[in-house]
Amino acid sequence: MMRSYVFPGDIDPRIMAIGSEPIPYMRTQEFSDINLESERILLDLIHCTGGRCIIYTGSGTGAMSAVVENYVSTRRKALVIDGGSFGHRWYDLCRYYDVPVVHFEVPFARDIDYDELENRIRLERPDTLLCQHHETSSGALFDLERISAICHRWDVSVVADVISSFLAEELDMDRLDLDICITSTQKGLNIPPGLSILFFSRKLDNYPFAHRGYYWDFEENFSNLRRGQTPFSPATTLYLQLHERLLQLQEQGGPDLNIAEVRHRCRVFRALCKEYGWGIPAEVPSSAITGFQTGDGERKVFRGLIDQFQTFIMPGSRPGFYRVSHMGLQSDRDLRELAERIHQLEVHA
Ligand SMILES: *Cc1c(COP(=O)(O)O)cnc(C)c1O
Repeated sequence: MMRSYVFPGDIDPRIMAIGSEPIPYMRTQEFSDINLESERILLDLIHCTGGRCIIYTGSGTGAMSAVVENYVSTRRKALVIDGGSFGHRWYDLCRYYDVPVVHFEVPFARDIDYDELENRIRLERPDTLLCQHHETSSGALFDLERISAICHRWDVSVVADVISSFLAEELDMDRLDLDICITSTQKGLNIPPGLSILFFSRKLDNYPFAHRGYYWDFEENFSNLRRGQTPFSPATTLYLQLHERLLQLQEQGGPDLNIAEVRHRCRVFRALCKEYGWGIPAEVPSSAITGFQTGDGERKVFRGLIDQFQTFIMPGSRPGFYRVSHMGLQSDRDLRELAERIHQLEVHA
């Protein structure tokens, strides 16, 4: 049996079953009702009272691009926290769209030096900050509470990529006073890849967004979403899987149980890492994934897991560094078996 410790990981069979059902027509009241309900549950899960959301057919980077086109490009100057490949993507996007941008680099797997961040903001006076909650390339979790407090002292609007922390870490958009958050379906939501989701604080209700990209245009999407529709063909099946997953989370009474399960899996796996002597480079690791350092310099573990066990883990940016996601379904036993196999392959590498 195939086992996946990447994104989205192993998925609930009830969600997978929807993928093999006939696809209904989407320009109907039934489909609109489903989307309006999905939007309402999503806003509840992230605590965005009175806010709005857009669900796009497109991966998470589509939503990042949309934010820069429609919002960041209307601003004077952005500051990007670049702690790895996803932070760097914000920086690339700003440059792509000619948005003035300050590059704030954070070394691999380190936490942000928050005093230094505040100093840079004081000196550079950006009006928008782009960051990740969890930098998935290293497993480092950043402190949105501290970022938000600094930004409010200097009147900086905060956009947070919570793609790999939504439903894995506690997150309260209202309390953190974040302007825009983005996520996508294949991470914490644990359904197939293909949709991305933007959350807008109600403070942005009458914001004059730009029109710099036809497909991702915020206003066009908002005006269709008011009646539960999308301007272009939605990936209908994925919208139905998203809706089912959201109903499950609603039935669980919100995000807390899911967050606790992710945390449990990460604790189990990290105890195994300790047993086998694999270090965890992240200074403040997120529960969403475990990034760990093995002695396997030639990716033999990665290939061996696929060839011998049909099992996927994620290679990292440096030799011997691997990442295991905790957002898919996995039992304590699964994790022990995975660690044993990694150990065997590492020893025989
Ligand atoms: C996965 C991810 C993205 C989006 O990547 P896509 O390949 O477009 O899905 C963006 N930011 C973070 C932090 C991510 O983990």
